Amino acid sequence: MNVLLLGPQGAGKGTQATRIAAEYGLPHVSTGDMLRAAIAAGGELGRRVKPYLDAGELVPDELIVELIRERLAHPDASNGFVLDGFPRTMAQADALDAMLREIGRELDVVFELQLADEVAHERLLARALDEGRSDDTPEAISRRLAHYHAKTEPLVGHYRAKGNLVGIHADRSINEVFAEIQAALDQVGVR
Ligand code: ADP
Repeated sequence: MNVLLLGPQGAGKGTQATRIAAEYGLPHVSTGDMLRAAIAAGGELGRRVKPYLDAGELVPDELIVELIRERLAHPDASNGFVLDGFPRTMAQADALDAMLREIGRELDVVFELQLADEVAHERLLARALDEGRSDDTPEAISRRLAHYHAKTEPLVGHYRAKGNLVGIHADRSINEVFAEIQAALDQVGVR
């Protein structure tokens, strides 16, 4: 089963992706986590991407697409995956479509976790106190949300046109949101 989560920062993509991954035995593929791991590892890739993350800017498409291409080729992704944080631009979505076509697979469900900006802001500021992520400053938060609306939100229309988009109200408890996700996944019946 191939699942994709869209939604603004703070909507709970990472949390829900982790739960879906555990429940359905799929790898959770988060480009944000991969990039933070690369930074922590201290290698060349990490050095290249750190300035983008710190500023709340998007890492260049070519670099991200290559990262995903390698990740999805891992044996653990052969039965499916939960994508979180990719694609984030139309160019990335086109690259993903092409990649999936090549290996004869498609996305079974695309979830859009919907959350108002004010709530997203509040959640991210609260998370900043908890986790101390270097890009949870008010400036970087605003930039990331602006990039979401300008560059990522158009993907909602792209996937709606393909017919596999499911909208979810994310301004509810983790359990309530997950229950709705599960109901949609079970309806797809590809478990
Ligand atoms: P958030 O959704 O809260 O911004 P992520 O962990 O998804 O957090 O991403 C953190 C940062 O990593 C982004 O601000 C961006 O710099 C970079 N990043 C992650 N995924 C992508 C992507 N698909 N394309 C470009 N940059 C990305």
